[in-house]
Amino acid sequence: LPTVILVGRPNVGKSALFNRLIRRREALVYNTPADHVTRDIREGIAKLGDLRFRVLDSAGLETAAASGSILSRTTEMTGSVLARTQLAIFLIDVRAGLQPLDLEVGKWLRKNAPGIRTILAMNKSESHDDGGGVLTAEAAEAHALGFGDPIAISAETGLGMAELYEALCPLLEDCMLQRLNDKRIEDDSALDMENEENKLPLQLAIVGRPNVGKSTLLNALLQEERVLVGPEAGLTRDSVRAQFKFDGRTIYLVDTAGWLQRCGQEKGPASLSVMQSRKNLMRAHVVALVLDAEEIARNRCSMKHAETIIARQAVEEGRGLVVIVNKMDLLNGRRNLMLYEKVINAVPKEIQTVIPQVTGIPVIFISALEGKGRMAVLHQIVNTYENWCLRLPTARLNRWLQKVMGRHSWKDQATQPRIKYFTQVKARPPTFVAFLSGKAQLSDSYIRFLTKSLVEDFNLGGIPIRVMQRQIP
Ligand code: GDP
Repeated sequence: LPTVILVGRPNVGKSALFNRLIRRREALVYNTPADHVTRDIREGIAKLGDLRFRVLDSAGLETAAASGSILSRTTEMTGSVLARTQLAIFLIDVRAGLQPLDLEVGKWLRKNAPGIRTILAMNKSESHDDGGGVLTAEAAEAHALGFGDPIAISAETGLGMAELYEALCPLLEDCMLQRLNDKRIEDDSALDMENEENKLPLQLAIVGRPNVGKSTLLNALLQEERVLVGPEAGLTRDSVRAQFKFDGRTIYLVDTAGWLQRCGQEKGPASLSVMQSRKNLMRAHVVALVLDAEEIARNRCSMKHAETIIARQAVEEGRGLVVIVNKMDLLNGRRNLMLYEKVINAVPKEIQTVIPQVTGIPVIFISALEGKGRMAVLHQIVNTYENWCLRLPTARLNRWLQKVMGRHSWKDQATQPRIKYFTQVKARPPTFVAFLSGKAQLSDSYIRFLTKSLVEDFNLGGIPIRVMQRQIP
């Protein structure tokens, strides 16, 4: 929370304002040892409309101030308290008029807290408020303090709290952004370290219905007959687990035994199998879904029910998805040319229709039996994994955001959401947050637009990236 300190000479009403801001909330009283002088500073969580901030009441300093010159005494608190303060509310007493001590407080603020933005408030304005609330002469006098136009308030009656809210809003928002920025610079320097992550072993799951050629593909990838392959469904189902190297990277095959076997039957133990597969999915980073080209050509439908379930689960669990269409050799004859083209054109479109949550899912056409497309599969799996681990620095994302916001056409400029910041909060899979100012929310369609643009501009096809939104208080 941003911290706001109440300052002013004794008796201007700092404590009254403090009490109003924290209402009945607990105030924390603590000691600030400074140069062997111990003073009390009250601290509480202030609530003003929808604003929340930490408020410090420097009233405890009055005793010290009274015994010496306010200047000499109050400078002693600078270090510990001002270091964690972002804003000040400088109170003066409009009934008493401007006093020499007010000028001293002003001088002190300028000298010791140049980085702290200050709101000048004329307290005890209730009796001066003639309905118009103008207080012209007093305001002009207060203006001479050099802290801009004062706002007229009454900590006793609550007058002027709306104006105080208006004045605080933009300043608090700036504080929050500054903090986010500072934090993000730290985050970005942590990126390099996290990029090391993607050198860890890649966990791959090869899934698909029986007989689509998973074992054959696996053998092609391993380049040796480590897995039994046969025409009967269910022959190779027991815990396929293997490990191999590609491009200097270790790839683990996650155990996918029985994934779609029972799930494909769609009744009885099917639901159990689906649950089991979901658990297995969590262990994979990349899910390669294998389809049978000949079957697609014959059935005029790329994805069967079970395959759709698995693909959806994979993206819901945040895994990277690659679709592999196997047995393309069976469509290779001249007689099949039309079928061949049809499959190549139809599959990517159809997959996109059944899994609209993720755009640009990569589809690779292979023949596992002939060993064709093996390298394409390996490169795509590694590429998907690297994108799944991707971390984009905030500066780059915000440059991107500026461009992309111009791309979207708005019927009404007024409805255009104000995104202050866009940042990646995590990887594996990449997750982004749009920080918004004001009350307007991003519509679902705008979130989709941002997601799609991210996928297109950073080549994140098949990665279930997430875009969330947060209001800046
Ligand atoms: P799995 O149940 O998904 O593991 O499928 P298998 O790898 O056991 O393959 C099932 C059958 O399809 C076997 O007879 C394979 O020889 C055959 N097969 C696998 N890949 C291809 C391919 O690319 N082309 C052709 N024509 N047959 C294939």
